[in-house]
Amino acid sequence: MPKRLIATSSSSECTSSSSSSESKIVKAENSGNSSGNSENATWRRDVALIRKMRADMVAPVDTMGCHKLADPLAEPKIHRFQVLVALMLSSQTRDEVNAAAMKRLKDHGLSIQTIRAFPVPDLEKILCPVGFYKRKAVYIQQTAKILEDSYSGDIPDTLDGLCSLPGVGPKMANLVMQIAWGKCEGIAVDTHVHRISNRLGWIKTTTPEKTQKALESLLPRSEWQPINHLLVGFGQMLCQPVRPKCATCLCRLTCPSSTAKTGEKVEKLTKKSRKTVKIEKEDAFEVKEEPDF
Ligand code: SF4
Repeated sequence: MPKRLIATSSSSECTSSSSSSESKIVKAENSGNSSGNSENATWRRDVALIRKMRADMVAPVDTMGCHKLADPLAEPKIHRFQVLVALMLSSQTRDEVNAAAMKRLKDHGLSIQTIRAFPVPDLEKILCPVGFYKRKAVYIQQTAKILEDSYSGDIPDTLDGLCSLPGVGPKMANLVMQIAWGKCEGIAVDTHVHRISNRLGWIKTTTPEKTQKALESLLPRSEWQPINHLLVGFGQMLCQPVRPKCATCLCRLTCPSSTAKTGEKVEKLTKKSRKTVKIEKEDAFEVKEEPDF
């Protein structure tokens, strides 16, 4: 829940005082860009505004994201395994549901050994109602065996090694590297990052894979890790897949997808949103040979 409620949507929010102060922010951000590169100025301005909005909100990812779900007191190998499991469960699953499933697993003692001791049907019962819990139960079992047999009971410390595990794709692997190993080797692009960076016009891409490449070209390395958390929370609270709360968004004055400007734009974005949701449902899977989970 937000620490401070964002003003509810109303036409009065587009009136002079807020617009004028936001215009000042926009101008300040633009003038602060020394490169003179408009692409660079655009994302820098938007990120600054999103950081300002995020400072006043608590999104589900802030309190129940995968970085919060492993036991901080567990020994390092077990902690890293728990991070991996949390991320494997997170695909197509709300943070609340994932956090509850992780709690049930931890109540049973979540380690490679305990997972291996569980028959798959029992594991399914613990994971339900996580999205695609039946397939995830099998993948987690298979992963526990691989880690025990080939990685001395630890998780791989490379993107390639992580991506070789069942159901783990680039987005998940990048987040595991960041959370479990403290190494940022790439931008983790999920549906929020993909949708918002396209809506804001930073990039024009059709898949999360293309978005990752485009964003890694656009953003400096110092932004690669924080951008995921920043945009996921923003996407959960404000720039949602359907009916984004543009009227309360500080980016609305310059966002090419804003619905806060004209009725025509609202209609256009509504149609576009339906299309986006459809794409997101397909792209949300970590695609390997077949969609996972
Ligand atoms: S689509 Fe709306 S909520 Fe999303 S960034 Fe643009 S103005 Fe903000």
